[in-house]
Amino acid sequence: MSLIVMKFGGTSVGDIDRIKNAAAKVALEVQRGHKVAVVVSAMMGVTDQLIGYCRAISPRYDQREHDAVVATGEQVSSGLMSLALQQRGLNARSWQGWQVGLRTDSTHGKARIADIDPQTLLASIDDGKIGVVAGFQGVTEDGRITTLGRGGSDTSAVALAVALKADRCDIYTDVDGVYSADPRIVESARKMKRVSYEEMLELASLGAKVLQARSVEMAMRYRMPVQVLSTFANEIGSDLPGTLITEGNEKMEENTVTGIAHTRDEAKITLVKVSDKPGIAARVFVPLARAGINVDMIVQTASDENHTTDISFTVGKSDFDRALKVLEDEQPSIGYTKLTSAKNVAKISLVGLGMRSHVGVAATMFETLAEKGINILVIETSEINTSVLISDEYTELALRALHTAYGLDAA
Ligand code: ADP
Ligand code: ASP
Ligand code: MG
Repeated sequence: MSLIVMKFGGTSVGDIDRIKNAAAKVALEVQRGHKVAVVVSAMMGVTDQLIGYCRAISPRYDQREHDAVVATGEQVSSGLMSLALQQRGLNARSWQGWQVGLRTDSTHGKARIADIDPQTLLASIDDGKIGVVAGFQGVTEDGRITTLGRGGSDTSAVALAVALKADRCDIYTDVDGVYSADPRIVESARKMKRVSYEEMLELASLGAKVLQARSVEMAMRYRMPVQVLSTFANEIGSDLPGTLITEGNEKMEENTVTGIAHTRDEAKITLVKVSDKPGIAARVFVPLARAGINVDMIVQTASDENHTTDISFTVGKSDFDRALKVLEDEQPSIGYTKLTSAKNVAKISLVGLGMRSHVGVAATMFETLAEKGINILVIETSEINTSVLISDEYTELALRALHTAYGLDAA
């Protein structure tokens, strides 16, 4: 008898009919003889609404109370899912993060999972009860409720699958698998039958929000097979209709570029006329790091005749205001003459294991963007990705053109 974790995202539990639809899928897996633990997100839109309530009281809210409020979305959906299962004659009960011993650190708003103590839940499942666990939430050592960051129910589901030693973790969502690019933007995107952990981690980290990057990181570390599949289709997880994230690839050797990810979550900051001498970059980036601000892309121009250069970099939009404040405070130490910034930017990233051994990948990217008249603001490469920052008005155009240029369009 195998154990499967079934995770339902916000759309999949968006209203009562959808919760009933999800419960029917759980019932089918049980009929096939599987033990099941269910993980749910909040009903669609609820998390945004709860965050909005906190902000309406004060933009500088207490993060611990914020988490106490925001975690309630999942408490509601886990109770409702349990009721829907009981209505079908199944034995089910809901569990909050703290009740399954999902302990986290105290980084409220984006807490990291320390460990899960699944014994009580496991005993209940072994006793024939379906466990419905509230995703996205945990508890600190000293008993405060935490949340795991946006999209965190994916990570709850994979972590639970690992702790329960499940056979597979099925992620039910509003698309029927992982595509070569966001299928809502690139109509010709191709659904992949399998994606390697490594490539999925890269895609998710670079913006493909179909899975939270941390969930892929965890799946990769513990070699947990994860399947992404549709909540709207008739098949269930055990039919394996979706995309399997696992070791290796479909056509491992042939993939130069497997997928294209994009994000509009970053903003660009430029420090103009910084003196070109040792130690200046540290004066920029050390205070940002101390403030907990993650810097992503960085580019520095060549020195001019006065030995000054411009330093540009990107930060997450949610850190943007704090980054400006830090840089303004540090102006006397850094000594830039002007600070410019742009929020209307998008990062487009090519991902593929084959990039390690193929030459000319970046050249095709630059050529394709040039043909469309799209200006590149920043370039960054790693072993298995090449990313560019462009003006966000060209996001769709760039994604579609690159998708065609790399031969990814569905036949
Ligand atoms: P859920 O609420 O179920 O967690 P999300 O909205 O977080 O769902 O993730 C699903 C969305 O991810 C899809 O609707 C799709 O627009 C987006 N997405 C981005 N990149 C990809 C990709 N490469 N393949 C599939 N979906 C993608
Ligand atoms: N409800 C949370 C969010 O909207 C967690 C999740 O959906 O995964 O981010
Ligand atoms: Mg999600």
